[in-house]
Amino acid sequence: MTTTTKYIFVTGGVTSSLGKGIIAASLAKLLQAQGYRVTIQKLDPYINVDPGTLNPYEHGECYVTEDGAETDLDLGHYERFLNRPTSQANNVTTGRIYQSVIQKERRGEFLGKTVQVVPHITDEIKERVQMLGKSGDYDIVITEIGGTVGDIESLPYIEAVRQLRWDLGEDNGIVIHLTLVPYLSAAGELKTKPTQHSVKTLMESGVQADILVCRTEHNLPKELRRKLALFCNVKENAVIQSIDASTIYDVPNLMLEEGLDKVVLEKLNLKSATPDIDTWNKFVHRHKNPKSEITIGLIGKYVELQDSYKSILEAFIHAGAENEVKVRVESVHSEYINSDNVKLKLGHLDGVLVAPGFGERGIDGKIDAVKFVRENNIPFLGICLGMQMAVIEFSRNVLGLADAASTEMDTETSNPVIGLMEDQKTITDKGGTMRLGAWACDLEIGSVVRDIYKAESITERHRHRYEFNGKYKAQLEAAGMKATGLNPDTGLVEIVEIPEHPWFVGVQYHPEYKSTVANPHPLFVAFVKASLNFNKRKKSATVA
Ligand code: GLN
Repeated sequence: MTTTTKYIFVTGGVTSSLGKGIIAASLAKLLQAQGYRVTIQKLDPYINVDPGTLNPYEHGECYVTEDGAETDLDLGHYERFLNRPTSQANNVTTGRIYQSVIQKERRGEFLGKTVQVVPHITDEIKERVQMLGKSGDYDIVITEIGGTVGDIESLPYIEAVRQLRWDLGEDNGIVIHLTLVPYLSAAGELKTKPTQHSVKTLMESGVQADILVCRTEHNLPKELRRKLALFCNVKENAVIQSIDASTIYDVPNLMLEEGLDKVVLEKLNLKSATPDIDTWNKFVHRHKNPKSEITIGLIGKYVELQDSYKSILEAFIHAGAENEVKVRVESVHSEYINSDNVKLKLGHLDGVLVAPGFGERGIDGKIDAVKFVRENNIPFLGICLGMQMAVIEFSRNVLGLADAASTEMDTETSNPVIGLMEDQKTITDKGGTMRLGAWACDLEIGSVVRDIYKAESITERHRHRYEFNGKYKAQLEAAGMKATGLNPDTGLVEIVEIPEHPWFVGVQYHPEYKSTVANPHPLFVAFVKASLNFNKRKKSATVA
């Protein structure tokens, strides 16, 4: 194993959304499968300090790490592929960089110097890049630079990469440039010009790409690879094709076929071996060859955007493969559900997940959805806001507390079954102030969750402000909704179940963040299994 950490920078050219995160994660997987200790970091060029305050419409899901960092959703891909936790150090934004430089300036740390983009901002970027390497935990750090080369806001990052390559030495830092080779159907041709231009733009900043990964809809012929190599100053074996795949989980194998791992290791002067990806391949095989199909409803208010519930959708893929079933996720917009149409919208589903969320929009639809699945014995998983809605629904319709509500939506309610904790009441800043990250939870003996987790105590990641109000616990339990997971220190209720229902679980935390290819989340696996059983029961009832 190496003594110095090696760095791989991944830049993007031509357009955004080329899938830098998936390429970085796939490469990392291949390197990890050859025995290297690898981590991935994302640098985001926007001014928000973290994506926690960003609307999902802007930026997709906010992914939460064990240490409670609110991060870019690409970190979710890193964890799902590598099965290793990430942390705050794995996601840095321009806002955070400037915040830290400005704090240093206020403390007088620059000794009267004029504080500038170069060297102060670039130094801060370089420090953040090397932080993971210096921990001694990694042989290779892959740093993905958000945005597209040529953007004004990425310039300091590209400059930091240029400097770092000098600081580190030739075979200790390399650049992979991810680019697009578009196909013009009218001309029937693949075009290299946009790639040539973006490589040139990168060179204007003094950075020469070592490897090109070319996103394409068609196979790149040999002559075209040769042409790209010639015009872009790279070796022919460093022109890697990344063709559209039917699933992101195919990408590691596609990169292996193209030899991306080999050329990377060669340039870093590291040994390559045959990667051991048997477990990965078994998962891909099961994912692609399901024995049956079920439909699970995802009730949320951002359902038109795939990225908003990324980790939930991926967790269903892992759990589906584990159960050898294809989970078709049907998105149902909570704003358009009401008591008149709920049967029409949800009646055919094999399971229902009520999603996390914030604010008032769509909550009535979520409550109607919970009532329907509770009364019709349809398997239910409520996550965060989804769990809170389950508590409200039960309080209103079973306990008869007609105005039961969360104080997030109704500050005047006389039955705040969901409310703010004392320590949240004085908080005014919105950013980074929720209950975040991993918290312990003890599981009740005899509960469904204890059986699912096969553990007495677990830790799961949180991202919320409001909580189950303990004052209602006894009343709810007496009526049939049990609190089966409690925080060992505070007694806060983290899980509710309805034992009389075939499968009804609400969790205050976000299990989806911890589901990986190697470790599908037990709660999702159990929920998919319950939905599969429900589907089978329905089918046999129809036949009979
Ligand atoms: N809005 C709710 C809260 O803050 C739920 C948050 C969530 O679903 N992530 O408690």
